[in-house]
Amino acid sequence: MARATKIVATLGPASSSREVLERMIRAGVDVVRLNFSHGTAQDHIDRANLVREVAKAAGREVAIMADLQGPKIRVGKFEGGRTMLEPGQRFILDAGLSAPGSNERVGLDYKALPRDVKPGDTLLLNDGLLKLTVDAVKGEEVHTTVVSGGELSNNKGINKAGGGLTAPALTGKDMEDIKTAMSFQCEYLAVSFPKSATDMEMARQLANVAGEAWHHKPQLIAKIERSEAIPLLEQILRASDGIMVARGDLAVEVGTAAVPALQKRMIKMARELDRFVITATQMMESMIVNPVPTRAEVSDVANAVLDGTDAVMLSAETAAGRYPVETVEMMASICVEAERAEEISLDAGFTNKTFGRIDQSIAMAALFTAYHQGCKAILALTESGSTALWMSRIKIHVPIFGLTSQVRTQRRMAMYRNVMPLLMPNFEDRDTALRHAERLLVELGALKPGDTYAITCGEPMGYPGGTNMLKVVRVA
Ligand code: PGA
Ligand code: MN
Repeated sequence: MARATKIVATLGPASSSREVLERMIRAGVDVVRLNFSHGTAQDHIDRANLVREVAKAAGREVAIMADLQGPKIRVGKFEGGRTMLEPGQRFILDAGLSAPGSNERVGLDYKALPRDVKPGDTLLLNDGLLKLTVDAVKGEEVHTTVVSGGELSNNKGINKAGGGLTAPALTGKDMEDIKTAMSFQCEYLAVSFPKSATDMEMARQLANVAGEAWHHKPQLIAKIERSEAIPLLEQILRASDGIMVARGDLAVEVGTAAVPALQKRMIKMARELDRFVITATQMMESMIVNPVPTRAEVSDVANAVLDGTDAVMLSAETAAGRYPVETVEMMASICVEAERAEEISLDAGFTNKTFGRIDQSIAMAALFTAYHQGCKAILALTESGSTALWMSRIKIHVPIFGLTSQVRTQRRMAMYRNVMPLLMPNFEDRDTALRHAERLLVELGALKPGDTYAITCGEPMGYPGGTNMLKVVRVA
């Protein structure tokens, strides 16, 4: 397989035409992200339909991630859309103000801010570009002094250095958006600013209820972007299917310099707990306006790959940039190069763990066997995708093919590193299924006569969690 690391691309005005979207999908987008911080419910429904249509036309299955806005704390609007804040000047964040803001004060959509801050706190606006120190809280007004100035425009985000904002992770808007996202059965639901495992459990419950009509249960992604989430990482991971290293807001809360080490820790922990992980934000930022990335961006993407991320994500680069297709192409080529330098992690993965489940033990046995037998591929016949996920947590440089009769499972596996999801018919007879799987891989050119491969399946066929068989085969 050409590329193991998956690419998540955000849709926006720059990428919502059929033509651009199709070129992006052909260039290698595996998961499309719909950002619920922008646009109406109908916009997202239209985009989801377009993604399904275009992917079909391109002959690929692309998964959809609905990314909830969460309690992003924002300033209100300004008279004229913006103001210029100078260092040393006073500025008031006023929860009671409903009129447009000025150079003296601005309204807030988050009314609890005055209760969450105290004198001496640092507030960061517009992703940390502006810095304010809190002098006093007077009723609904937070009085501040500008430390680092700059332009402040409508609806820019506010973060508090060190965390500590009490806003719940799921807003009323998020609850409505979950229903919208379930109406097109998104494969992934990303929760913004979760503070605890409970936030994730609540989102899962809401999503499962909203998805009931379609018997659909999405995979839940916790965006790690709050200081409070760091010490609770393990619990949050256990309550989620995957996480996003959401470097944009995280950097503002914990300080930019702390982010690279946290990224490594999060990726490692996610893999150890059999969860997937996405590395996000500013990966190819300069390509919003330039046709080539900076050297530092190339290194950043490559290092995330070497850290072991499942997926790398594009935000404004594809949503609003000038070169959405070129950015995806460039990112794909950086991933492929970096993967060549990847280290094999078979031994560590085996010695540090106990595999209690039969299906998981079989998945591990397949990896071990494939590695030692020099197999060209591992084929996992899977109902839920779990077997392929477990296999992909350990790096042995053998491509994994997740074969399933369920389109949903096929799409779900789009996120897993080194897993190529494939659809095949549902066979009740094991030998027919095994033969079909081999033929499919030969037709794809992934296997040729004389190649050895490992294949796992469950008998009887067709039950999730039923994998209990491993076979090693040489192609005749
Ligand atoms: P956002 O999340 O782009 O929705 O803010 C990602 C991040 O904060 O890095
Ligand atoms: Mn964020």
